[in-house]
Amino acid sequence: MTTEPLAIDTDADAYLALHRALDEPAADAALSEREREIRAVTRNLVAREVAPRAAQVDATHTFAHESVQALTAAGLGGLVFPRHLGGTDDTNVAYSVAMEEIAAGCAATSLVFMTQMHAAYPILLAGSHDQQQRYIPGLIDGTLYGSISITEPDAGSDVASLTTTATPSAEGWSLSGQKTFITTGDRADVIICFATVDRSLGRKGITAFIVEGAWPGIERGRPFDKMGMHGSGTAELFFDQVAIPHGYLLGGERDGWPIVMSSVVKTRISAAAQGVGLARAAYARSLAVLARQYGAKLPDEQTFALAELRGRILQARLLLHAVARQADRDPAITPGQIGIMKQVCTDLGFQASVEATRILGPYGDLAVLGVERCLRDAKVTQIYDGTNEIQRLLVGRETTRAMQELA
Ligand SMILES: Cc1cc2nc3c(=O)[nH]c(=O)nc-3n(C[C@H](O)[C@H](O)[C@H](O)COP(=O)(O)OP(=O)(O)OC[C@H]3O[C@@H](n4cnc5c(N)ncnc54)[C@H](O)[C@@H]3O)c2cc1C
Repeated sequence: MTTEPLAIDTDADAYLALHRALDEPAADAALSEREREIRAVTRNLVAREVAPRAAQVDATHTFAHESVQALTAAGLGGLVFPRHLGGTDDTNVAYSVAMEEIAAGCAATSLVFMTQMHAAYPILLAGSHDQQQRYIPGLIDGTLYGSISITEPDAGSDVASLTTTATPSAEGWSLSGQKTFITTGDRADVIICFATVDRSLGRKGITAFIVEGAWPGIERGRPFDKMGMHGSGTAELFFDQVAIPHGYLLGGERDGWPIVMSSVVKTRISAAAQGVGLARAAYARSLAVLARQYGAKLPDEQTFALAELRGRILQARLLLHAVARQADRDPAITPGQIGIMKQVCTDLGFQASVEATRILGPYGDLAVLGVERCLRDAKVTQIYDGTNEIQRLLVGRETTRAMQELA
């Protein structure tokens, strides 16, 4: 019996009942009615359309197209976008609540889902009216797939050293270089590509472009074989003198760095919400497995370990909501505030998955119970969107500045 699939993976009502039982009134109290409604809608959809596909998507490395389409069809793809572009004008908190729900049901789906937003958001920030109308509605409703393309073989944490270069041409720009580890890079219709127009300027030379995936001169690598997040494609992109017509520059020439810095507020909320969602998934799965073994009354050792996890998940969720709320109030929220949230929440996603695996002993190792999937999926959330070492660096820099002001 213990090695059969969990009811929460096949029965939406069982999924909803378990996750409802795990709600925390202390976190819910600060949510608006609309934010609670978004959670209810997302959770319902995840229970019926996303969670039941998650194990299969993982086992077969199938792109989570159907799960993502179910979410976009329900209008969830545009939570932080204005209505005139097909969005719903909701808060960052609403977005983080929805992302936690999606990640709890299928982390790979949440990765593709958030990447749609990460591709559309720079266009909202810096795009012309025409660019916004042309791309954002499609990224929101899932008719277009998008990528955000920053990382290169020798530039990721150190964005300023990127070498993909755009040179002026008669038609606009000519783009050459290589990107790597690009989510949805294997199929993106729209690629937000950060390149330099002058390497000697470092970060001040970075410029953002909208690149259409079908343009000549673009080659895509095969999706990498990864530890986790198997339902998402992660690929290299090669640009060989890609002709970018006039009208595809995002913002102005050399405006790329501020676009990156503003975008990471959103992308790190995404990663943090994945961390909380994965921690909750590992916790919920442990409970479901233990309930099979012991019924409602668990041995003390497991009860203590789960109490510790529950407290840490609540703490991380409160931090996520507090920082997302602050970002709603003040878009100039500091990288240190964002960094604390990203690091704490994604570290928890991984640590909770490790702990859930320990609590279950050999059952933690069984793919059919899904805790090992949480562990494999959670690891990369500590790495992307700025590694957690880089987050600590950013937090440390702010502390140093504050100390210098005191001195
Ligand atoms: C599944 C997946 C999806 C991704 N999706 C995207 C995407 O869609 N778009 C995109 O542009 N990128 C994406 N990335 C890339 C990811 O954001 C980068 O790999 C990540 O930011 C790390 O940068 P790097 O590759 O330069 O690593 P490095 O900087 O080389 O890191 C190597 C190690 O050194 C540490 N390190 C580096 N600098 C410092 C420092 N100053 N102090 C202390 N430690 C340091 C890092 O923390 C890390 O442990 C993805 C990566 C993965 C694995």
